[in-house]
Amino acid sequence: MHILFYSAQPYDVKYFTAANEKYGYHLRFLEYPLNADNTALVKPGETVVCAFVNDRLDAPILRQLYDKGIRLIALRAAGFNNVDLKAAASLQMPVVRVPAYSPHAVAEHTVALLLGLNRKIYKAYNRIRDNNFTLNGLEGFDLYGKTVGVIGTGNIGAIFCRIMLGFGCRVIAYDMHEDPRLKAAGVSYASADAVFEQADIISLHCPLTPATQHLVNAGTIAKMKQGVFLLNTSRGGLIDTPAVVDALKSGHIGALAIDVYEQEEHLFFHDLSGAIIQDDVWSRLITFPNVVITSHQGFFTHEALTQIAETTLHNIACFEKGLPSENQVTL
Ligand code: NAD
Repeated sequence: MHILFYSAQPYDVKYFTAANEKYGYHLRFLEYPLNADNTALVKPGETVVCAFVNDRLDAPILRQLYDKGIRLIALRAAGFNNVDLKAAASLQMPVVRVPAYSPHAVAEHTVALLLGLNRKIYKAYNRIRDNNFTLNGLEGFDLYGKTVGVIGTGNIGAIFCRIMLGFGCRVIAYDMHEDPRLKAAGVSYASADAVFEQADIISLHCPLTPATQHLVNAGTIAKMKQGVFLLNTSRGGLIDTPAVVDALKSGHIGALAIDVYEQEEHLFFHDLSGAIIQDDVWSRLITFPNVVITSHQGFFTHEALTQIAETTLHNIACFEKGLPSENQVTL
């Protein structure tokens, strides 16, 4: 099998090369993101494209890939909002993904963001390096006893709920599918509105779908508590960022931590330190002292990278043998 990787970073090369020892496939790594300009980079004989979260897989691009001989889209990610599944199905091009790869990685990163934001670790780090040992402005609050609202209690949200229960928080959640094990552990389910209204901290763990796009918007923010902490490690499109900027300016949102951003494909995973950023919403967002941003690194642990590489190659092996993959994305 000849597999072409788009958006490949050095860590992709490292982990996929290691996992491939078992398979012996031919792997070719391109650092470019997949878009309409570079489908021509597919070489004869390559039948699989391995793509990541910001690679574009819309109908015209899928068609171009198909015409170049690609027969399988292997996502090395859980989310598949960047793929036109209908177009892929009409080309009879299966799409496989890695549904779960250390959900602990993302849940723990969410907790890291919350703790860092609340206790101002990012400020303290800089202060100490400047020999400034004062505490003014570093005040946080006890998480113990606070109400944490979780939207989406799948693999990642469930682990996040359990960690927050361990902190002694009250955890309320909204998901169409209630998890009885979480209920038994002490999570109470409520409507999305009730979660927005009651939570001191809100964390988003649902996928990006037409139903969840801009789930956090001016209307839902208005329902939230004054000073609410908002966390998003799922997908940028869950948040209407200009509305959040307005709420940060007014103080209605007390702090924001995000690992994802709606327009992240233009920014994340690139070194733009010498560039002029053209995205004014982003530029405003990073000026707030109560905003912490990481560039989509929630998944970035040794365990998750190992699992991603192994599951992706397993998915490709299933395709090669004509076997159905349990990880195929269906419409
Ligand atoms: P999952 O499929 O296990 O869980 C998603 C949950 O969201 C499900 O329980 C589902 O019922 C629920 N849901 C769907 N629509 C909803 C809605 N409208 N309102 C409330 N709940 C809804 O997915 P997961 O593995 O827990 O991942 C969650 C999301 O995290 C992914 O979709 C992905 O976007 C994101 N993610 C981010 C990173 C990162 O590095 N930051 C890594 C992996 C996944």
